[in-house]
Amino acid sequence: MSDPEDIVKSVFGFAGFRPGQREIVDRLLGGVNTLTVMPTGAGKSLCYQVPALCLDGPTVVISPLVALMDDQVAGLRANGIDAACLHSGQSRDRNVEEWLRLRDGSAKIVYMAPERLMTDRMMAAMEKLNPALFVVDEAHCISKWGASFRPEYEMLSALPDRFPNAVMAAFTATADAATQRDIADKLFRGRGDTVVHGFDRPNLMLAVQPKTNWRKQLGAFLADRRDQAGIVYCLSRRLTDEVAELLKNDGYRALPYHAGLPPEVRKENQEIFMSEDAVVMVATIAFGMGIDKPDIRYVFHLNLPGSMEAYYQEIGRAGRDGAPSEVAMLYGLDDIRLRRQFIEQDGEDTDHKRREHKRLDALLAYCETTQCRRVSLLSYFGEESGPCGNCDTCLDPPEVIDGTREAQMLLSAVLRTGESFGAAHIIDVLRGARTVKIEERGHDTLPTFGVGEAQSKPFWQAFIRQAIAGGYLSINIEGFGGLQLTRKGRDVLNGHEAFSYRAIPVAKEKKKAERQA
Ligand code: ADP
Ligand code: ZN
Repeated sequence: MSDPEDIVKSVFGFAGFRPGQREIVDRLLGGVNTLTVMPTGAGKSLCYQVPALCLDGPTVVISPLVALMDDQVAGLRANGIDAACLHSGQSRDRNVEEWLRLRDGSAKIVYMAPERLMTDRMMAAMEKLNPALFVVDEAHCISKWGASFRPEYEMLSALPDRFPNAVMAAFTATADAATQRDIADKLFRGRGDTVVHGFDRPNLMLAVQPKTNWRKQLGAFLADRRDQAGIVYCLSRRLTDEVAELLKNDGYRALPYHAGLPPEVRKENQEIFMSEDAVVMVATIAFGMGIDKPDIRYVFHLNLPGSMEAYYQEIGRAGRDGAPSEVAMLYGLDDIRLRRQFIEQDGEDTDHKRREHKRLDALLAYCETTQCRRVSLLSYFGEESGPCGNCDTCLDPPEVIDGTREAQMLLSAVLRTGESFGAAHIIDVLRGARTVKIEERGHDTLPTFGVGEAQSKPFWQAFIRQAIAGGYLSINIEGFGGLQLTRKGRDVLNGHEAFSYRAIPVAKEKKKAERQA
């Protein structure tokens, strides 16, 4: 067997392995099934290409897209490595030719799509070749927990039984803990290692703020960044236009970008952003794919993103050059409700919806965490780390206060009004407001009416947000956004569990405005 280090240098022409690659190579050569979770661009291909050249039998790489296969094969051939590729985009004769090169051993690696591999004929032919290694690329596609399940990938779970002597390797850039377990179950029958590596972007300073007054908050964030390039992400096209206009009037070089703009305007704005120095791109998520501008100094989210994966990808556009960059997000109750609605409106599959809600829960927990943000972000992807010293909670640790009594007031108000009202009405009940809605329903006769009078409206809004993020209350989207108690919420209400929350700074002017109102 040749030495992996030599192969990296002499065949691929690199100075050596990158951090994290060698441990994967060693596992695969040692016969250990391995799931590798690494971000895009980290160098996953080398982790199986080097073992493929060291091992005796052929290596079968399963890849979902013809374009990806062609790229990989072209890359290998450029390094003088013969690789075969079977797919429907090329003629039958060509596929036969490729197969023959694999069979006679001149090609040691073959790429193909899962549906081609899993046919009876191909399985039988493969068995004769006795493959040493199976590589499942984009392995998250095998899991319904993942972001992009593909039924043809699920068939791959037959491989470990069919080829008990082959080593199984799986690679993905995106898999939360549940997806990782699912992949390992299906492809390794649980016998194997999972290695998560390289998600940290230490030069990104992470921050999240509750949304109180987004215009002011955005203004404060941008104030000393007039000479920097950055992205402000908005949820809707309308908000995108509004914010771009607002910033323009404020003297920024701000440009809008969303799918509702004519293609030529989008193209022009993108080109200006790429080529000029201090442009703020105000955009929906339509902007970002393939944007490779190294010196984006900040990414500001005016709304909650759709999931932790989406958030990670969106903030990942900042600081590609490694220089200090800042990412900040605002989020409010309205964002949570909207995101829940989006999930509910997306198709019929209730299992799918449940999983999407769970993914959103993880993002909310990140928003309300009282620990290091980076620890929270990385642990979502399964990567362990310590407090980073470069996030808002590390730099300015939040004060955590016992709020069991307030939580009981809140939960009781929710329960006694029948778990069918949104935050605004519950706050009115707590604060003893005599609105028409309250009087019509007799909610002014409830024992909880007015018990939370001592606290301001903004206090209760923030408090409810934390209770939702902490999983004590949930939003019932089918029931028009009414708040409901969860099991955890009932435990607090019954005094079985305590509730603590991060201190809520309430702006002075808000208090004043409320007194006047
Ligand atoms: P991924 O599949 O993780 O997105 P790739 O395998 O496509 O990443 O690799 C990303 C880039 O990194 C490629 O250009 C590749 O040539 C380069 N690369 C990978 N490993 C090394 C290494 N050890 N040294 C230098 N460059 C490397
Ligand atoms: Zn931190």
